[in-house]
Amino acid sequence: MSTPIPPDQADLMQPWALTVDRALTHAARWHGDRAVVSRLADGSLSRTNYAEIERRARRCSAALLAAGIGQGDRIATLAMNHANHVTAWFGIMGIGAVCHTVNPRLFDEQLVYIINHAADRWLMADVQFAPLVERLLPQCPTLERVVYFCGEADCPTTHPAVAFDTLLAAASGPVVWGDFDEHSPAALCYTSGTTGHPKGVLYTHRSQMLHTLIIQSRDAVALSAVDTVLSIVPMFHVNAWGIPFAAATSGARLVLPGARLDGASVYELIEQERVTVSAGVPSVWQLLLEYLAKHQLRLSAMRRVIIGGSACPESLIRGFQDDHGVDVIQAWGMTEMSPIGTMGAPTERIAAADAATRLRYTAKQGRVLFGVDLQITDDDGAVLAHDGHMPGHIQVKGPAVIRRYYGDDKDAVGADGFFDSGDIGTIDVDGYMEITDRAKDLIKSGGEWISSVEIENLAVGHPAVQLAAVIAIPHVRWRERPLLVIQLKEGKTASPKELLTFLEGKIARWWMPDAVVFVEHMPLGATGKLDKKTLRVQFAEFTAD
Ligand code: ADP
Repeated sequence: MSTPIPPDQADLMQPWALTVDRALTHAARWHGDRAVVSRLADGSLSRTNYAEIERRARRCSAALLAAGIGQGDRIATLAMNHANHVTAWFGIMGIGAVCHTVNPRLFDEQLVYIINHAADRWLMADVQFAPLVERLLPQCPTLERVVYFCGEADCPTTHPAVAFDTLLAAASGPVVWGDFDEHSPAALCYTSGTTGHPKGVLYTHRSQMLHTLIIQSRDAVALSAVDTVLSIVPMFHVNAWGIPFAAATSGARLVLPGARLDGASVYELIEQERVTVSAGVPSVWQLLLEYLAKHQLRLSAMRRVIIGGSACPESLIRGFQDDHGVDVIQAWGMTEMSPIGTMGAPTERIAAADAATRLRYTAKQGRVLFGVDLQITDDDGAVLAHDGHMPGHIQVKGPAVIRRYYGDDKDAVGADGFFDSGDIGTIDVDGYMEITDRAKDLIKSGGEWISSVEIENLAVGHPAVQLAAVIAIPHVRWRERPLLVIQLKEGKTASPKELLTFLEGKIARWWMPDAVVFVEHMPLGATGKLDKKTLRVQFAEFTAD
């Protein structure tokens, strides 16, 4: 006979809502003097610490509360990575308002669309974006107030606005953080737009905090109290992949690069602040490695770099590992996943393998982390084997994965609860996932898939190539064939024949691009990724003949 536990004995552990304010409260209390360093617009560095950020964030909350901002209200930020932006995040989210990080690299129409779609009440912006804010204001009727991250003297006066420092100085009164349901919304981020109309992903406190715990596992981002982390990835790009939260929970020193992401500035910051870990998209690292090679410089303190957002070419991995002794860990994910899904830390077998094998596996997108469920399926939805050969639709499930886009009335997941990433890839017997293409970016030649990503990764290994994109062009017989679009490095030359010869032997003969064309400037999307939509339009009439 079963002996059920009486209802009053069933839940004997403490209620402790997973709200994001806990990350900063913990940092202020237990790592209060750990530095947060910001590069300001004039290039100088400003220093604060977690204790000071918490004090100011509470003042920010007090100012919001005094103005009638409450739970669920959306506050937009239009800012680069710096301590005031972090302060605003916690000030907003701590009282249950929603921090909507807006990507300043989007086009005006997209910005107007997402600010109106989110119905943001306040906009907190960097002074450098004042002209942009001025253009947006008349088109965004829900915006009641503009706050600039600056002191009184630097606050723009061409439109009504208040300086962040002034706002905080005037704020007072007790502020209670948290104390609401962990399923409440905390942050809003619109997808980058490389794949269509921007769509809002509304993260909850719980999803953000679980994502933080997920990426803090040993084989993931794993920041510690002896680390100094440089968040190259912008805070408007999926909350800087969660790094500020992870830094606060672990007491890692946090370095924020502002707007300067050129090789010289990034190198100076890394060396001066003794950065041990960093994270960002491949294009920034490419610039850094070129700068280091040109000036024969070495990275002395950095141990690990997390590279994601786009496939990481082997040349980049080799550059970091061989020339600087920096471990590369690739991360794959997307806005809809908060964003991290897989990471490339080695298994025991791969860690013990020869250098060439380790390199090959580091170039894959990695293994799934605890807290994410991953599967690949064929076009009919049947789950495929992990054989490393058969590519399928990569689908994910988890507490930090989207269920429905903000404002939609239908779920974005299938009947089995999995969200389709739109990426195509394989999973091998060791559990490594490898992206072979994007569903929307597929080259299907004679009914078979060609991996544009793989050809691009190889092409950027050529010494004259800065950027490479492979897109499909129409073909009478095969329906689609690959076209290789190249942006050469400044001052370098290469002929189409030379580039195709470079690819020979590295890819199947039928994968060989039908033609190579050169562009002066590769179109890039708002997050610095290749904008293939524009390229496809540009070369819509192109025929290899
Ligand atoms: P993110 O902030 O991760 O770039 P987006 O939502 O803008 O998020 O884009 C997600 C898409 O970027 C993924 O679906 C995938 O196509 C691509 N992507 C992200 N990381 C990688 C990676 N490591 N390798 C290849 N593609 C990647």
